[in-house]
Amino acid sequence: MEYVLKTESLCKDYGRAHILKSVSLDIPKGSIYGLVGRNGAGKTTLMRIITGLAQPTSGRYVLSGIGSDSRKIGTVRRRMGSLIESPAVYKNMSAYDNLKIQFINLGMTSFDGIDELLSLVELDTTGKKKAGKFSLGMRQRLGIAIALCGNPDILVLDEPINGLDPQGIIQMREILLKINREKHTTILISSHILDELSRLATHYAFLERGQILKQISSEELMKNVRKASRLTVSSTALLCPALDIEGIEYKIVDDKVIDIFTDMSVSSLAALASSKGVEIEHMTENNESLEGYFMNLIGLKEDIT
Ligand code: ATP
Repeated sequence: MEYVLKTESLCKDYGRAHILKSVSLDIPKGSIYGLVGRNGAGKTTLMRIITGLAQPTSGRYVLSGIGSDSRKIGTVRRRMGSLIESPAVYKNMSAYDNLKIQFINLGMTSFDGIDELLSLVELDTTGKKKAGKFSLGMRQRLGIAIALCGNPDILVLDEPINGLDPQGIIQMREILLKINREKHTTILISSHILDELSRLATHYAFLERGQILKQISSEELMKNVRKASRLTVSSTALLCPALDIEGIEYKIVDDKVIDIFTDMSVSSLAALASSKGVEIEHMTENNESLEGYFMNLIGLKEDIT
């Protein structure tokens, strides 16, 4: 497999605090690589290092075959676009002029690609409107267009859907998928909205307290997620003691909904429920969510440390 970016035992300390602890990642070419982690896990720190905004305490990364310890890293970093924290846009300029400035910064002499980029991020009808008057979603999309100037091989996006409304989130998802499919840009994206990330990502890395707990492709993850039967019942409170006695693995969703992880037949479940006077109103197959998988991983880690 070809990797656009690899990190090798990256460590970052701030004073005595070990923020990143030997982070090794392999980001395949063409992937949408989701970086999953709770607040403070170190996602932004990692992205700041990869994009050259911060230096690692130790370890290195390899971008398009060039090591961060090489003098050529500055040149190859031009093949990377990023949106970290808030997008750096000129508020008193239109979307078009913002892109023009970025083209000039990159030493590009023709502005031919600007209209195509604006259309890709659905800002082609904003005309002379100044970026300062844009909504958050429009500003984020402009930030992505700026990051895409120069046609980078990899786009690094830190929480790009943070603060967007549901419509804005869907729009952003469609745009990122289009960028990945049509421009073949590899995307490294962090988000704590895991449900949304699971609709995009082809690969994941789970970061917890500065450590990578696991790297996994979405294909593998689908094979590993726990299968559950989701029951809607008259009372989960009445049903649970019976499940406990039988050693059945379950998770309560609310007072009427429960996920059963132990593989068992519908008839034995129904018999068990009816022995406690509980009625099963509805039953569906429900795969564990990305969030559930992550929570399990964290639980596992807490058990072994
Ligand atoms: P969030 O989603 O909340 O942004 P994150 O996973 O991106 O979380 P980071 O922003 O990378 O996490 O922060 C990881 C830890 O490093 C936090 O405890 C933070 O306080 C600390 N940290 C980050 N930058 C600095 C700094 N410049 N000096 C000292 N500590 C820092």
